Amino acid sequence: MSDLDLTRSAADVAPLAGRSFGAGRALRHASKVLPEHARVHNRSLVLQTLFHQGAMSRADLARETGLTRVTISDLVAELIADGYVIEQGTRESSGPGKPAILVDLDREGHRIVGLDLSGSERFLGAVLTLDGEIVARHDAPVPNDPADILAVVSTLARALVADAHAPVLGVGVGSPGVVNDRGVVLTAPNFGWTDIDLEGALHAELGLPVLVANDANAAVLAEYTFGGAGDDVLLVRVGRGVGSGLLAGGQPLRGSRFAAGEIGHVTVGTDGGPVCVCGKVGCLEAWLSAPSLGAALAEPGADREAVLQDAGTRLGIALAPIVGALDLSEIVLSGPPELLDGALAAATVEALRTRTLAEFHDGVQVRMTEQGEDIILRGAAVMVLSGQLGVS
Ligand SMILES: [Zn+2]
Repeated sequence: MSDLDLTRSAADVAPLAGRSFGAGRALRHASKVLPEHARVHNRSLVLQTLFHQGAMSRADLARETGLTRVTISDLVAELIADGYVIEQGTRESSGPGKPAILVDLDREGHRIVGLDLSGSERFLGAVLTLDGEIVARHDAPVPNDPADILAVVSTLARALVADAHAPVLGVGVGSPGVVNDRGVVLTAPNFGWTDIDLEGALHAELGLPVLVANDANAAVLAEYTFGGAGDDVLLVRVGRGVGSGLLAGGQPLRGSRFAAGEIGHVTVGTDGGPVCVCGKVGCLEAWLSAPSLGAALAEPGADREAVLQDAGTRLGIALAPIVGALDLSEIVLSGPPELLDGALAAATVEALRTRTLAEFHDGVQVRMTEQGEDIILRGAAVMVLSGQLGVS
């Protein structure tokens, strides 16, 4: 514990940062701002400012955060002692006075381990810097017996931690299925999982902070922090199934049962359509998942353009009420570019245009992610940054 003056710190609380996810669970439940909350908030604000803006002097930090220079000095001293911030020499000074010492996030001082469990053949893992750059990769085949999944994931995580070559800030995991805010996978049909405490199991195994979220919810965080997405964005993830992650006002939406974004089994249209694995007819997933599209394109005499256009239109029909209700500015597509990028995305734009209010929603952007196949690994890193440092 530091001997930070909590009284002064409490009085000097910076306004909430617009883009912050908040310092997480603890703050949201507090009705009264306690000194320790103010301190956590201010620490996050300093780290967030350095994360996005890079090295600056303590005076710059005070200006950027709205905190007093005394508070900044205390916080920076504490963050240096904790190994999150380093001094980086001085800036050439043009005026009189001694040159300012620059401080920055110690981007090399810690590593993050990310896991992507969404693949049908391999679980992917990476060691990442605090900037989301991947410095090492390991993967493992998805076991045939679902009973072995937890052991395979643990072994993969341990191999990554051993390859981190720096203290590991935490382990982020993007998992298929519905995941609650404690990292319990409530249901993941592909794994045969119900109420599996993945976060707890990995934490017990590794002795490190672990954060688990649904894969599409992880992906939208990568798009937000590293992909330049705005505060009101929906990311559609097309793979074995179809899911989405949502941010509204810069906050991840979880929903009443942690199933926000589960759009795959919403039926689209009243004209029938393919039968879905869930038993219903015309689910979005039955039109749009990679296997569904692959099967439709492989039909003898299939018109590729028409199949992709129809799938894109169905996606637009499903998304239009969401865009309208939440006033989204951006739809980001993540999945096989050869399927999504082109006729499909164009048809989605057209369907959205004809089905939403022109005055507000004509400008809704539909684009492919630039995060590629690493989007969930990088999103898992953002979960750790956000959960451990309040940085996003
Ligand atoms: Zn279905």
